[in-house]
Amino acid sequence: MCAVEVNTLWSNVTPAAAGLAKLTGVHDTEIAIVGGGVAGISLAYHLAEAGMAPVVLEAATPGSDAAGKSAGVIASLPVRHSPYEILERYGDKKGRRLVDMVGESGKYVFSLAQKLVLDCAPQQTGFLAPARTVQEVERVNKTASEWRSFGYGVQSVDKDAINRLTGLDTYQGALLDPAGGAINPLAYVRELARAAAGQGARVYIDSPVIKLHKSGTGWRLESDNYTVNASKVVLCAGGGNCNLSAGLARTVLPFRVFQMATEPLDMKIREVILPENHAMTDVSPNIFSLRYDRDGRLITACPAFLFYNDKSRIIRFVEERLSIFSPLLETARIRYLWEGTPWIGRSVLPRVTGLSQGLLAVQACNGRGLAINTILGREVAGFIKQGHTENLNLSIEKPDPVRYHGLMSYLPAILVNSARLRSRMMHKFTGLHRYT
Ligand SMILES: Cc1cc2nc3c(=O)[nH]c(=O)nc-3n(C[C@H](O)[C@H](O)[C@H](O)COP(=O)(O)OP(=O)(O)OC[C@H]3O[C@@H](n4cnc5c(N)ncnc54)[C@H](O)[C@@H]3O)c2cc1C
Repeated sequence: MCAVEVNTLWSNVTPAAAGLAKLTGVHDTEIAIVGGGVAGISLAYHLAEAGMAPVVLEAATPGSDAAGKSAGVIASLPVRHSPYEILERYGDKKGRRLVDMVGESGKYVFSLAQKLVLDCAPQQTGFLAPARTVQEVERVNKTASEWRSFGYGVQSVDKDAINRLTGLDTYQGALLDPAGGAINPLAYVRELARAAAGQGARVYIDSPVIKLHKSGTGWRLESDNYTVNASKVVLCAGGGNCNLSAGLARTVLPFRVFQMATEPLDMKIREVILPENHAMTDVSPNIFSLRYDRDGRLITACPAFLFYNDKSRIIRFVEERLSIFSPLLETARIRYLWEGTPWIGRSVLPRVTGLSQGLLAVQACNGRGLAINTILGREVAGFIKQGHTENLNLSIEKPDPVRYHGLMSYLPAILVNSARLRSRMMHKFTGLHRYT
């Protein structure tokens, strides 16, 4: 067995971000962005494209946190809310605009990648959300039909078709969004940072914001090496937002995930497993996801375990899991293993939070942030440029803290781990198919 690299696949296959420096000294700017993940860099790009010169303060390098640790699946449709539920929540007018923003977001990533010639291995081959149970099939069919009624080409796929499209006999049906697919997410953010800098954004690396406070009519951002005075600040630091604003401290819940990639798989396997190169994440609480990278490595994920953290045990678990889903994957060996934390908000919908005069935050990626946070960057840039919310496709909301936050922080992990346990027990006592 070859050694496993405890490192992201993406950092091994992506050229380093060039030409970016650490910030020192005292500076004034109209707009500062904290965090150079997908949200911060997309915002910087869209502001710079509109003629502004934002300063991006990134703690490490662009895309180094959740974005660059993600699977790179471009799936924009919300998992928990159908379009009609969004309308019900936000009203017809605002709701419709939000639905359209979300519905367009996957396509927008690929169009941006094409327009800016981003070298990020874009594969707009479609996104599958397969379902294992009758109830899950009903839910995905309903969601697909609602998106269709809003004019989106989302399809319902039957058992035969999903078995053929995945090469797995596990599923009873699926939702297919042809606008989805996959990218190399680290390359995407690095390349977008390059495009933003090319348009006049100033992106600084190794420049964490340690303190943020009001100063006159604006804001002061401080680190050991610099001070930045800004008229406006947008917090795009992912989970790090919580440390910078008391208002955000209890608004999101962590959901630790292990992400893995195999060696490139044999063509004979690839002709059967995801033969049309879709990206898939099933809708079970015990999530199973698969996609290929540009070189045919299979990428899969495994939510963290509650009681153990041992990497070799996790690798054994995932290799066994792959072989349970398909005997063809019995020989697939994990080559890269890494860990990341998507953050989950209460509503599981895209969210821009207004914290104070001149202080906004892009919040809660909900494990689907690549597409959503890209388009939020465009939205927030429009709002900043125009200075009013008239053309904004979503509302600027107040912080939405999670009640009993301390206890609830364990909830995402508990839900997944109990689904995992339930599946094992069902298999043991009823002989039903085991999904692990
Ligand atoms: C394991 C995993 C798998 C995922 N898979 C997918 C997927 O397949 N598809 C999908 O759409 N989404 C996926 N996600 C979610 C997606 O990665 C996030 O939604 C998205 O990256 C969030 O973007 P962001 O810019 O808000 O945050 P991040 O990408 O986390 O960026 C925040 C940035 O802020 C910086 N920062 C933090 N604190 C400070 C500070 N004090 N000062 C300066 N900078 C700071 C960080 O270094 C980081 O670069 C996954 C996430 C994980 C962790």
